[in-house]
Amino acid sequence: AKNIDWDAVRGDFPVFERQVNGKPLIYFDSANTGQKPRSVIETVDDFYRRHNANVSRAVHTLGSEATESYEGARKKLARFVNVHPDELVLCSGTTFAINLAAYSWALPRLKPGDAILLTRMEHHANIVPWQLVAGRTGATIKVAEIAPDGTLDLDALHAAMTPEVKLLGVTHVSNVLGTVNPVREICREARRRGIATLVDGSQALPHRAVDIAAIGCDFYAFTGHKMCGPTGTGALWARKEHLAAMPPFIGGGEMIKEVRFEGTVFNEPPHKFEAGTPNIAGHIGLGAAVDYLDALGMAQVEAREAELLAHLNEELAGIDGLRIFGNAREKAAVVSFLVEGAHAHDLATLLDLEGVAVRSGHHCAHPLMHFYGVAATCRASLAFYNTHDEIERFVAALIKVRGLLA
Ligand code: PMP
Repeated sequence: AKNIDWDAVRGDFPVFERQVNGKPLIYFDSANTGQKPRSVIETVDDFYRRHNANVSRAVHTLGSEATESYEGARKKLARFVNVHPDELVLCSGTTFAINLAAYSWALPRLKPGDAILLTRMEHHANIVPWQLVAGRTGATIKVAEIAPDGTLDLDALHAAMTPEVKLLGVTHVSNVLGTVNPVREICREARRRGIATLVDGSQALPHRAVDIAAIGCDFYAFTGHKMCGPTGTGALWARKEHLAAMPPFIGGGEMIKEVRFEGTVFNEPPHKFEAGTPNIAGHIGLGAAVDYLDALGMAQVEAREAELLAHLNEELAGIDGLRIFGNAREKAAVVSFLVEGAHAHDLATLLDLEGVAVRSGHHCAHPLMHFYGVAATCRASLAFYNTHDEIERFVAALIKVRGLLA
């Protein structure tokens, strides 16, 4: 493995130059959104300064530069996740991506008596679109439960793959528990039973190498802003045969070949699903984020974060009355916790006074909160740009604020 200077890597992120409440910023909220390296910020800036034009419509120089960079970003992203660029629909993020699959693929297919299988640990983005589709088709939602340690009960999940189930939605990595689900095995079992699979990769792509082709799912949704890219970026990958069969979800310019009032001929996928002016600068910025992560190497990123997580767990083990939610063996650097006698929001508010950014709340996972019988947790989520020193300062701050609340 190559030796990475992680201090130099941290220096690539301008946000760490600032202070919060007179303290150096400790940003432990990367599961919410990731920080951006200079190369991504500069790529977006350069696009607007020098190349700004719309894509696909213009034959002039700036227009073709914009189109080339935008389609180039799609190719980079496709290579990063090992799929064909024509199977990658660029969109505003995971939420849009899952809605696209729900409305274009599931809505025309599902009937009363069909079921959609979801897991207890899904983000609302992988629950609500399916409820909307279920409401309109007469299909029902089935839930695969988890064990108290925050792992999926695989036997129960496989047993829940009954003939009425037409689609399984499963997250690759939990945004609350950090659990890394064995999506390859799960998708293989589903496929054997003729069940289509949608994997929510929002929390996987920022933290490990993801090979969508190897997973063997039907749909893979992800968001760019958690993987060093700009907000409003992301994609839905779908098998070619699905994209060919799916009607468009949103209509407008760019997604057509020919429009007459009598009827419209749609463009080929993926353009068929990309109506209107897309987030051009954002996706070009996401291409720069892929370059950045590629240069680090996702194996290095994963190893670095595992080391940071081990250190954080070690430090937290010394705190009395701390409850940690989720301790799967395969886990991303996300720690949800509560301190006895303290509300999650009070903890997060006092931590902010110490310069520490953690998220408090339900993390868009109400069903998971219900499972654990809590209304909210605090969540410290790390990325490769965090440091061992920050972990020590965070734990010291946590001990201090707990003293204030006790
Ligand atoms: N799924 C998971 C697991 C997530 O963590 C998130 C973001 N919190 C989403 C979906 C939604 O992503 P976005 O808001 O970028 O659409």
